[in-house]
Amino acid sequence: MKAIVKTKEGYDQIEYMDVEEPQTYGDKVKIKVAYAGICGLDIHTFKGDYASNKPPVILGHEFSGVVAEVGPDVKNFKVGDHVTSETTFETCGTCLYCKQKDYNLCDHRKGLGTQADGGFAEYVLSREESVHHVPDNVSLKSAALTEPLACCVHGLLEKTTITEEDTVLILGPGTMGLLCAQVALAVGAKVMITGITKDKKRLDIAEKMGVHRAINVETENLEEVVSEQTKTLGPTLVVDCSGYMPAVNQALRLVQKKGTVVQIGMFSEHENLMDQDAIIQREITYIGSRTQKPSSWDLSLKLMKEGKVNPEAIITQEIELKDFKEGLKRLMEGDEVKTVIKF
Ligand SMILES: [Zn+2]
Ligand SMILES: [Zn+2]
Repeated sequence: MKAIVKTKEGYDQIEYMDVEEPQTYGDKVKIKVAYAGICGLDIHTFKGDYASNKPPVILGHEFSGVVAEVGPDVKNFKVGDHVTSETTFETCGTCLYCKQKDYNLCDHRKGLGTQADGGFAEYVLSREESVHHVPDNVSLKSAALTEPLACCVHGLLEKTTITEEDTVLILGPGTMGLLCAQVALAVGAKVMITGITKDKKRLDIAEKMGVHRAINVETENLEEVVSEQTKTLGPTLVVDCSGYMPAVNQALRLVQKKGTVVQIGMFSEHENLMDQDAIIQREITYIGSRTQKPSSWDLSLKLMKEGKVNPEAIITQEIELKDFKEGLKRLMEGDEVKTVIKF
């Protein structure tokens, strides 16, 4: 079968090539991939600065498809089922975090598309525990984005809570920012999202999705707009999806006193100069949120089933597997919001 493989560490080293089709065994479900999302992480993989990759490995950690075959120990899936899968392929099963199904925190976790073969291929194997049925009324295209949606659900609905009383400011209108906006809108919160002039397409999509205010921080004064939108109090919750420290520091002074800042965006440096004084003086709760866990997937699929979120709305490009690099290039240039590979 054809696959996109990171063959070696370093810059690029990504090839569209023939590989062996995986064989089912034990609790493994073999999925014929229908759609797979290209993610910001794939850009880091291309640049060779993402250390978690263990090449040679088939990339792709966001996908949906149809069950093609099941291993002898699989109980809840049959050939033809529409599914999507968590990226957890292997965990130690015994650590404190595994016992609580916080697989995202297990030190021995192996993920699809990073340490185990992922979904940029005609077929992918996943363990039964990680596979989820896609509800009948949810498209496979939307279901391919369950992984990034689950990251947002984890940050907004599991690491903290939001209600319709909340005013939420989201920094960064990429995939994560837009999906966080959908989740916040789904619970009835008032939502603002920031971007720059280059993000016009993204901010337009945000407006179409129903955010209350899309703010171009290059042409508008963020503080003024936020103050006006929140009757001078500031948002109760800020979600950073930018990984840009100056924006986070600005947010620490903008958020309401006793408010919450959820950090989802990854920084390019491990250590950054943060305004801790703002956290102390204003009694801010600063929360880190790392990827997602099984419960975030159940919640995400429920939100999609109920029609409260629609990940498809952020897809602006559909490509074929063989055109992966071309698609990635356009993503890097910032011309697209979300790209999916259609099989
Ligand atoms: Zn991703
Ligand atoms: Zn573990």
